[in-house]
Amino acid sequence: MRIAVFSTKAYDRRFMDGANTDHRHELVYFEPRLTAATVPLAAGFEAVCAFVNDTLDAAVLQKLARGGTTLVALRCAGFNNVDLAAARDATMRVVRVPAYSPYAVAEHTVGLMLALNRKLTRAAARVRDGNFALDGLLGFDFHGRTVGIVGTGAIGSVTARILAGFGCEMLAYDPFPNETCRALGAAYVPLAELFARSDVITLHCPLSPETHHLVNDSALNQMKLGVMLINTSRGAILDTLAVIDALKSGKVGYLGLDVYEEESELFFEDLSDRVLQDDVFARLLTFPNVLITGHQAFFTRDALTGIAATTLDNVSTVERGERCTNEISTVQNTPAR
Ligand code: NAD
Repeated sequence: MRIAVFSTKAYDRRFMDGANTDHRHELVYFEPRLTAATVPLAAGFEAVCAFVNDTLDAAVLQKLARGGTTLVALRCAGFNNVDLAAARDATMRVVRVPAYSPYAVAEHTVGLMLALNRKLTRAAARVRDGNFALDGLLGFDFHGRTVGIVGTGAIGSVTARILAGFGCEMLAYDPFPNETCRALGAAYVPLAELFARSDVITLHCPLSPETHHLVNDSALNQMKLGVMLINTSRGAILDTLAVIDALKSGKVGYLGLDVYEEESELFFEDLSDRVLQDDVFARLLTFPNVLITGHQAFFTRDALTGIAATTLDNVSTVERGERCTNEISTVQNTPAR
């Protein structure tokens, strides 16, 4: 198939070209994000390959359909950026990469936890500056601490496995509990109980209408004083303004983010020469107990290899007219499990 691949960086090309030797699709790479402004670039392409911050709302999907596109191949797991009802109306099929390397994201999640706890970025900067004082670097043992995992699918389960190795007590919340996590020692409890009992809370549910601002003022009020919050899932699961208030009051003692509500205007680009226009993000950067990475949790060789292989397999499966197990049903408008 001719595929217009949006939001591409050199690393995307490298891994997609590598995987394509097994498929021989015609891949045409576009650096910009897919938006209402860039959608004309896709005219005449049967398939469009999109990433996390590409816009696939009704207007874009209708324009894609008018240009002859019949397939959207997401090279990511989350599909909160796709208007599924509009895709159905435009008879557009949508495939995704439900699982690639849950290890990549889970390991990054735990990396954020450890770096926040032991203040690794501050410690490294001090040592580089010849300052070997330890004041301000005091941490705690993860062993014996209670970690609440919200969403125990692929990534949540691997996170649970790593934390079990640390000797953490684990609480979990998921509408569909999983036996692997139970076997690792996680106790499924109501969300309010998880909020109230956890020293560390990590979010691994998809962004959906139900999980939008799941962590809001009311949720934060239920949490322990000084709780560590980690979000490597999707930015809008956290109400950022509410979390900023909770950081100011000390309710949230540590915040680790790999995702941000308004990240599409910032992440994946080098903006180091520009004045930051997002005042909320700027405020987050002022807290000494906040650690932010720019949506890089997935970014390992293993994950990129898996993403490229599954994306192109999905396209080939659809092209052959076979049933693709990674197709998202466009009949529903909330994320599938
Ligand atoms: P998954 O589908 O395997 O697991 C998601 C789990 O969340 C499921 O068990 C589901 O039942 C549960 N869930 C659904 N609604 C929930 C709710 N209201 N409360 C609690 N749990 C709920 O998905 P996954 O592969 O584990 O990925 C999880 C999320 O991680 C993705 O949706 C994506 O947004 C994010 N992600 C981020 C990165 C990154 O680089 N930062 C990379 C991949 C995925």
